[in-house]
Amino acid sequence: MNILLAKTAGFCFGVDRAVKLTYQLLEQGAKVATLGPLIHNPQVVADLCARGAVVADTPAAVPPGYELVIRSHGVPRSVYDALEARGVCYHDATCPFVAKIHRIAQQAEAAGAVLLVAGDADHPEVQGIVGHTEGDVFVFGDLEALKRWKGPQTPQKPIFAVAQTTFQVTKWRECSEFLKKSYTNAQIFDTICNATWARQQEAEDLSQKCDIMVVIGGHHSSNTQKLVKVAAKHTRAVTVETASELRPEWFGNVKTAGVTAGASTPSSIIEEVLNSMSEEINDSMSFEEMLAASEEKRVHAGSIVKGIVTSISANEIQVDIGAKQTGFVKLSELTDDSGAKIEDLVKVGDELDLIVEKVMDQDGVIQLSRKKLASRKGMEEIAKAAESGEVVEGDVTESNKGGVVVTVKGAKVFVPRSQATMRRDEDYTQLVGKHVRLVVTECSGRKVVGSINKVTAEENKAKRDSVWAIVEAGIVYDCTVKSLTSYGAFVDIGGVDGLCHISELSWNRIKHPSEVVSVGDSIKVYVKDIDTENHKVSLGYKKAEENPWEQLKTSYPIGSTFHAPVVSITKFGAFVRILPGVDGLVHISEISNERVEKVSDVLKVGDMVDVKLLDVDFDKKRISLSMKALLNDDAE
Ligand code: SF4
Repeated sequence: MNILLAKTAGFCFGVDRAVKLTYQLLEQGAKVATLGPLIHNPQVVADLCARGAVVADTPAAVPPGYELVIRSHGVPRSVYDALEARGVCYHDATCPFVAKIHRIAQQAEAAGAVLLVAGDADHPEVQGIVGHTEGDVFVFGDLEALKRWKGPQTPQKPIFAVAQTTFQVTKWRECSEFLKKSYTNAQIFDTICNATWARQQEAEDLSQKCDIMVVIGGHHSSNTQKLVKVAAKHTRAVTVETASELRPEWFGNVKTAGVTAGASTPSSIIEEVLNSMSEEINDSMSFEEMLAASEEKRVHAGSIVKGIVTSISANEIQVDIGAKQTGFVKLSELTDDSGAKIEDLVKVGDELDLIVEKVMDQDGVIQLSRKKLASRKGMEEIAKAAESGEVVEGDVTESNKGGVVVTVKGAKVFVPRSQATMRRDEDYTQLVGKHVRLVVTECSGRKVVGSINKVTAEENKAKRDSVWAIVEAGIVYDCTVKSLTSYGAFVDIGGVDGLCHISELSWNRIKHPSEVVSVGDSIKVYVKDIDTENHKVSLGYKKAEENPWEQLKTSYPIGSTFHAPVVSITKFGAFVRILPGVDGLVHISEISNERVEKVSDVLKVGDMVDVKLLDVDFDKKRISLSMKALLNDDAE
């Protein structure tokens, strides 16, 4: 018969703590009383009694001169009051996970909330929890019982819901779902102990591989009985308190037997049971070897572990890493994003890669970090990227006098300001919050330096090459005005800057490009000419169909008249703008029927005059106009 021992079998953290404390006090020579049997294991209780410990049922029953140990189940508030009133010296071994529920009960009272407790109303842990609030309380054993609850006295009354630490995980999930759906004001606290959760989970997994599951534990131990129920879903499950209760007939055709044990079962009893179950154990593996093989994972600061998320609160998550301690990850150790909501980052059941920061055996907790592990892994990848020159990506998270810091795969890379932007006058602090591509130029110890410029320069070159590969006269580009000079506008046509000369911006005569375009404008241009040798592109912006000379040709025959402004005066005549960008000359002899000595005696710039089109030389772009002709026409 093959025997598989559950890794989680035996004393849990809280029980171990209480038992060790009691033995320690006895060894120190103290007279020790426990408030009720210390744990749900008659053999351990008997051994303690044999060493002089007494069991007191109430504070009043503690014999004078005895020091009292409060067991891991915890007690109601009234018990502390009674002990203090009697001046009894006591040692509080209430498990920290139970003490946490006491605090929730007190908060429920302060908030005027109803406290819902999933658990066994007769169990001392539940009685202890209930005894920490004077507000309304409802204890229920399962979903059916919860459904029978009539709800709070008023719909607005808040609801706090907790579970006994050893409550069955699957039943608690059902109850939580029901509460969430039925009472929007219910605050649900995941208080099932991690050790319990892991133990039940392992019992469930193991029972699916075995022909029989032997659950070792006190017949009155609630967590032992729950293990039996969990295992019985998949295979035959039996429970024994000691090896003497094993029945040979249980193992007739059994090929594989699983063994687990409740939280109050000492290793000596597990050893006895295993030895009785099979001679093979001694042949193949000693109990110490089996126990060592099954011992909960030992971890230390720096260990890399996998953790399953078991509960989520506002600022931290609880994870099971397979160790006897409970793992915690603070929100600040999950993400750099200070505005992130924890429930958007992880959910119960997620498996996370984590690094151990601190093991606090006293408190039974382990502090873990996802960020630091990501940073460590990131550093390894960055070191590789530094060697290979590979481009990496990251988010610019901060700037300082010297440059910017980019977070790449959880690790920080410093980019000096000279390597952050392409131009010295660019504001490098604007990069904060942007996603960038960079190369790591130095990675030695804690010094990690990168360059954004190098990647930008490479990318710009690639863009330029692709523009030069296809550019030709006539191609139209949608592009952006990058800068203006007195002689034209520079525009980016996808990596290459082209010049749109001032004369190409408008059919009108303009003094500065800013009369037509501004920096940042999106405009459509076409390529007029390319100088591949000097890498210059000339662009056109004004449209052929708006060419006023064409309009003149098609719409204004000789003899047409215009009412138009005088735009300049010369010795031999005045120029009149008959269309935008098209000026014609009124010769001095064509101004009036009278002899005109000096043009300025008759006309000045800005005067509006009536002129007649006499002649157009389209090749030389010369236009002859006459004012006199109209006077004569009028006279006729
Ligand atoms: S089962 Fe969990 S809550 Fe209960 S005593 Fe053990 S560690 Fe504490």
